[in-house]
Amino acid sequence: MSDTPQYLSGSEIRSYFLDFFAKNQHQILPSASLVPEDPTVLLTIAGMLPFKPIFLGQQKPDYPRATTSQKCIRTNDIENVGRTARHHTFFEMLGNFSFGDYFKEQAIKWAWELSTKVFKLPPDQIVVSVFEEDDEAFEIWRDKINIPPQRIKRMGKKDNFWQAGPTGPCGPCSELYYDFHPELGDKTIDLEDDSRFIEFYNLVFMQYNQDAEGNLTPLQNKNIDTGMGLERMAQILQKVPNNYETDLIFPIIQAAADIAKIEYKKADEKTKVSLKVIGDHVRAVVHMIADGITASNTGRGYVLRRLIRRVVRHGRLIGIEGAFINQVAEVAIALSETAYPNVRQRETPIKGELDREEAAFLTTLERGEKLLSEIIAKVKKSKKKQISGVDAFKLYDTYGFPLELTQEIAEEEGLTVNVEEFDEEMKKQQDQSKAAHETIDLTVQGSLDKLAEHIHPTEFLGYTDAQSVAHVEVVLVDGKTVDSAEAGTEVQIVLNQTPFYAESGGQIGDKGYLTGETLVVRVEDVQKESAFFVHFGRVERGTITVGDSVTATIDRACRRRVQAHHTATHLLQAALKKIVDDSVSQAGSLVTFDRLRFDFNCPRPVTPEELQQIEDLINNWIAEAHEAHVSIMALEEAKAKGAVAMFGEKYGAEVRVLDVPGVSMELCGGTHVRNTAEIGLFKIMSESGVAAGIRRIEAVAGPAVLEYLNEREAVVKDLCDRFKVKPHEISDRITALQSELKSTQKQMESLQQELAIAKSDQLLSNAESVGDFKVLVAEIEGVDPNGLMTAAERLQQKLGESAVILGSIPSEGKVSLVAAFSPKVIKEKKLQAGKFIGEIAKICGGGGGGRPNLAQAGGRDSSKLKEALESAKKQLADSLK
Ligand code: ATP
Ligand code: MG
Repeated sequence: MSDTPQYLSGSEIRSYFLDFFAKNQHQILPSASLVPEDPTVLLTIAGMLPFKPIFLGQQKPDYPRATTSQKCIRTNDIENVGRTARHHTFFEMLGNFSFGDYFKEQAIKWAWELSTKVFKLPPDQIVVSVFEEDDEAFEIWRDKINIPPQRIKRMGKKDNFWQAGPTGPCGPCSELYYDFHPELGDKTIDLEDDSRFIEFYNLVFMQYNQDAEGNLTPLQNKNIDTGMGLERMAQILQKVPNNYETDLIFPIIQAAADIAKIEYKKADEKTKVSLKVIGDHVRAVVHMIADGITASNTGRGYVLRRLIRRVVRHGRLIGIEGAFINQVAEVAIALSETAYPNVRQRETPIKGELDREEAAFLTTLERGEKLLSEIIAKVKKSKKKQISGVDAFKLYDTYGFPLELTQEIAEEEGLTVNVEEFDEEMKKQQDQSKAAHETIDLTVQGSLDKLAEHIHPTEFLGYTDAQSVAHVEVVLVDGKTVDSAEAGTEVQIVLNQTPFYAESGGQIGDKGYLTGETLVVRVEDVQKESAFFVHFGRVERGTITVGDSVTATIDRACRRRVQAHHTATHLLQAALKKIVDDSVSQAGSLVTFDRLRFDFNCPRPVTPEELQQIEDLINNWIAEAHEAHVSIMALEEAKAKGAVAMFGEKYGAEVRVLDVPGVSMELCGGTHVRNTAEIGLFKIMSESGVAAGIRRIEAVAGPAVLEYLNEREAVVKDLCDRFKVKPHEISDRITALQSELKSTQKQMESLQQELAIAKSDQLLSNAESVGDFKVLVAEIEGVDPNGLMTAAERLQQKLGESAVILGSIPSEGKVSLVAAFSPKVIKEKKLQAGKFIGEIAKICGGGGGGRPNLAQAGGRDSSKLKEALESAKKQLADSLK
């Protein structure tokens, strides 16, 4: 046996590899992103992926030879993580590549030289495999490298033939395995036995093109693609029993073990698996977020979410309570910062995303785990081996518990999950919701009623928190539940928990934002629908999806203003009791960010003097800076302490009490200032009656006072500008203007009279003779009713024994009619002015009357005036003949 390999750190292995190939004219290229350019692949799974277009002949290489250390993620190995010694989700693949340059023999020779000379692996501890039909490779290993033929294993197509797809470049591979137990001899070589062998290096000889019929034709330009697992080489060189205990990963595991207060070496197998899962996944998620991936319910976002969730869950399995992921992530970031500087640069988004996802999932977990353990107990009790698909689906649907997670936990208990039934349930629900979307009533309440059995009441965090991470439980658009909503959509959102206050007890709902890495939803209002807080808003940016974790942040400034008004409302009630009457009680209230409105029982108006006293008293309490305490107590206790409750309101056995000691004590579920000083200032705007025995006071507090006063000041300023006076002169100025207006009006009236007289004189010649009488029927334009009377009276006197009818349209849609009859008309012809004109006015849709000699009437239909006058003329002609 040769000398044992020497210890090399992970980063030494990386640079030895790259340097070795650089010395052999390979260009060292940086690792590509975990997010591949190739849109058909979710994540970068091998070192060759970035070069795929070159191998497929779609792109010309910049260099004939290249070498890289490529970060990779393989989700298909996720179940092996922690269970085998050699599989990770995230690992680094060291590779050397030839693009139509060197080929098989050179690749094998360098692989051997690197393994035995650089990494100093004993030649008799290396076993190789070749494709069963690849005699060329077999012979190179046997004749050029001198490996005994019994240690060159021929393998089938499944293991040792590489293809990128059904057609295109392909070829045989040859793998190098390290033999941990050469003492067992050459007779029993089984490369599948991973307690003895580990594959560490794979050489792909891309030498054929496969056509659609499956025919292989030799390629003109043959390529080499290789991959060596960095972690696997580290395991070998660091003489540890698995990849996880190498310097690349173990510090992460150590950090998790410290948090869980576990000694890794002494831990049982199950605990070790959890620690390894944490060590592996934390590296993966740190690099994924560094490369710009964010958690979501689809694609690579879902891979990320699933990995984070597994970390959280395994953390709980080993006894870690609460959030821990970022403590561990910090170690992973530190470990990778020299080789991958982008990781430290993206520290803030990484930690933010991890925080959010972890918090959201912890909540989900707590709920789901409880239910799942009940289900497991039930299954075990009935001596079954399988969890039903219905139960698994309920966990998924109601608790956001992924199927894989249920399967994993079940597996730990020796149970399986009926996946077929799960899929059926899933399909059933999809069909149902499709049908439901067509028939349900499209109100928010309607949709929520349907969901009420599935989702938990919203937890309100807003008494203490202005911001929190939350899980999106429901998204509604136009009252219908949807999976997601895009920018520009008006939405209603239900979260599992929220700092947003939902309108109640007179206090309006909070405003604010729900955000994610790329998401912004502006929340305009929050309303309670039974036990759910429904956030009404609009997606401003990104897409909101059920299952997302979001950061819910209230508009703190807005909330402070609401709180000032709310506490001020309590002070107002206390002041009213003190100054007006102790029997004053609340009849209703509204607390918003710009004012408060308080309705109360009181048989009489509150006098201006009392209002002033109330305002002063409240401002005194504010200036005295009283603490405001909230406490939860039994209803009886609260009543005994004299807390004010609203009459007729139903309270639970436990009540929330806002106490401003010595000033006010009231049952209240709202949010309040901590000290009356925060209110700043209080100002009553108005006092009025709203119903019999109920008065209303509107007032402002805090910054709203200033706004109210500014508004008032603007009015005063405007008046000063217009009247060209100082504020204190406004009143005198208005009195002067009022008397000026009065005398102007008087002048106007007499002018009207004069105008009527002047116009009527012109009409004298229009009078006609009927029998012994003169008859004058005419319209006068632009004369008011009084002027019309004067004119008619005057005309009749001038005409002697006569009947005069005048009409005018004093303003749009109005008709004025006047009749003036001389005594003989009244006595001999028995005509009365009042009766006569009243009848005529009916034609214009009106009526009226007056004395026999002079009367006035009005109507609304000015278009009928001519007809009315015609009718009057005809009647007079008939009657006076
Ligand atoms: P295995 O059979 O052990 O899963 P593989 O045949 O899938 O390996 P390749 O696809 O040939 O591996 O990848 C090339 C090299 O990358 C492997 O020889 C190994 O060193 C490393 N590698 C592959 N998958 C993983 C993994 N999940 N974790 C760590 N290293 C890996
Ligand atoms: Mg594999």
